[in-house]
Amino acid sequence: MGWLSFTACGLIWVSSTSAQEHPTGYTDTPTLPGSRWKVHDDERPRPSVVQSGIDGSAPSDALVLFDGKNLNEWQSGDGKDAKWRLVNGAMEVNGTGSIRTRREFGDVQLHLEWASPKNVESNSQGRGNSGVFFLGRYEVQILDSYDNVSYADGQAAAMYGQHPPAVNVCRKPGEWQTFDILFEAPRFEGDSLQRPARATVIHNGVIVHHAREFLGLTTHRAIAQYQPHPVRGPLQLQDHGNPVRFRNVWIRELGSDR
Ligand code: MG
Repeated sequence: MGWLSFTACGLIWVSSTSAQEHPTGYTDTPTLPGSRWKVHDDERPRPSVVQSGIDGSAPSDALVLFDGKNLNEWQSGDGKDAKWRLVNGAMEVNGTGSIRTRREFGDVQLHLEWASPKNVESNSQGRGNSGVFFLGRYEVQILDSYDNVSYADGQAAAMYGQHPPAVNVCRKPGEWQTFDILFEAPRFEGDSLQRPARATVIHNGVIVHHAREFLGLTTHRAIAQYQPHPVRGPLQLQDHGNPVRFRNVWIRELGSDR
């Protein structure tokens, strides 16, 4: 005999006497609103299989932008090879200017790890300042914000000059920290903005921005504004004169069908 049971997965038939064949999908169910697929549609394509990373390492379908070995994916602002220093599996800002990826991206999931200098030599925006710029234009701030007072919209994980992070989860100087960021590029139609850029930012495992909209291009001491630009651009890491280190940088492009 058997009985019907509700579980987290839905309604299933549970048998106490024999193994039951479970359908792999259905063809007689209603069509989902706004979709071509039916509920539990057996014809609906299954998600492709991806091997997940462990402890922040790259999943199998990610593009690794930096694995500690070389700067092949990066170039300087003048288009020449990036010249940041390689040290102990990390790349370190060394005053040769910001670097950007040779490839261009639009909507992405980005993972990177960074560490501010262990030796504290300055204060406020002079302490472990760097940043990650999506499309080379929209900055999520990197700063040593551990026991370091600076303006809220300029501290670590801020959408610089626009939105402070919800909380400050910055680790001590010299300690490795993680950013996991979902970034969606803005959309323009001609000269008009159709949809602003937005970001979800997770700093050291804690969500600090949730689908938050950029007010415009990152700027300093001014109101950000949008100016039309292509939907793809390079990822840029900022040289702000402080020897910030980076490691384990990988990226996944997001499809437009989410
Ligand atoms: Mg910065």
